[in-house]
Amino acid sequence: MLQKDLVPPHTGQRPAKVDYKRIATEEAFAPPDLFDMYRKVLADGKADAGFTSLWAFYLSSEAARPQHIRKYIQDLDAARIAHMDEAGIDVQVLSLTSPGVQVFDADTAVSYARSANDYLAEAVRRHPARFVGLTAIAPQNPTEAAKEIERGATQLGMKGVIVNSHTQGEYLSDPKFWDIFAAAEAFDMPVYLHPSSPPPKMIEPFMEAGLDGAIYGFGVDTGLAALRTITAGVFDRFPRLQMILGHMGEALPYWAYRLDYMHAATVRSQRYASMQALQRRPSDYLRENFYITNSGVAWEQAIRFAQEFMGVDRVMYAMDYPYQHVLDEVIALDNMNMAPEIKKAFFQTNAERLFKIG
Ligand code: CA
Repeated sequence: MLQKDLVPPHTGQRPAKVDYKRIATEEAFAPPDLFDMYRKVLADGKADAGFTSLWAFYLSSEAARPQHIRKYIQDLDAARIAHMDEAGIDVQVLSLTSPGVQVFDADTAVSYARSANDYLAEAVRRHPARFVGLTAIAPQNPTEAAKEIERGATQLGMKGVIVNSHTQGEYLSDPKFWDIFAAAEAFDMPVYLHPSSPPPKMIEPFMEAGLDGAIYGFGVDTGLAALRTITAGVFDRFPRLQMILGHMGEALPYWAYRLDYMHAATVRSQRYASMQALQRRPSDYLRENFYITNSGVAWEQAIRFAQEFMGVDRVMYAMDYPYQHVLDEVIALDNMNMAPEIKKAFFQTNAERLFKIG
């Protein structure tokens, strides 16, 4: 049956009590000084068009949604926990909001990542049953980023790593960044590859149409960033590395057939030096080295397709608080036509296993 309204209607209802925990896995925070630093980057005119488009809007717009985001993204105590209780969210897996430190110069990025991680770890210590933290890193300095992954894992109690797509136009598929993957694999830290705005070389036609943000540009750029790690051989080099993609895998599951077919054809014809044979098919890496979350997409049909393709153990729940703070989405997902044990895997047990929660 065709689903007529994809976005659930606003009911004003609260999600019901359920017999699984709801663990939301892509939830954002910003320490109080981050926005001051972003304002300074904007004022200095040093940021690229994507950062400027995104943060000039979110830091100044008086529309209701950006105001809500500015107000709550900085809270890691009572206000956030009240929203979690109201929405029936038991646990938030927290990450520094995009693009984190990746817009700063290398030294600022390294030191700010450390202080943001200390700040987050402190919040997790205050609310250990409600918050789980991911380590923010500065890819601008891969050696220091690897050290910070180690510090997050061994000293701060972090359960994974957060990194946003490209860093000032450079993608993690470049081997100069691979110390980051080596550390993540060594410390068994899954890497959440979160969107940022497309880089300068890509963004113009998106901006012309107002499509550079979360509506589409984020997904195109982040899907590309993930795909580049696959085709560059990151997972042949680091076979135990696990990455996480939000937004239904940035559409990559839907591309899988074409990726396999065209990757094989391109390798056979030796068209590009940059595209060499891999040990496995692109779809194998998606199914064996990636988890995906439904952040921003409360859509049963897409979730069921992803579960069929990835396996029910690799698709997890996310709300994307406070950017997409919609209680009717929680209700829609609670009501998915899905076996109880699969729904519990989606909301609870996959995240518990991957992030070693509880
Ligand atoms: Ca997000």
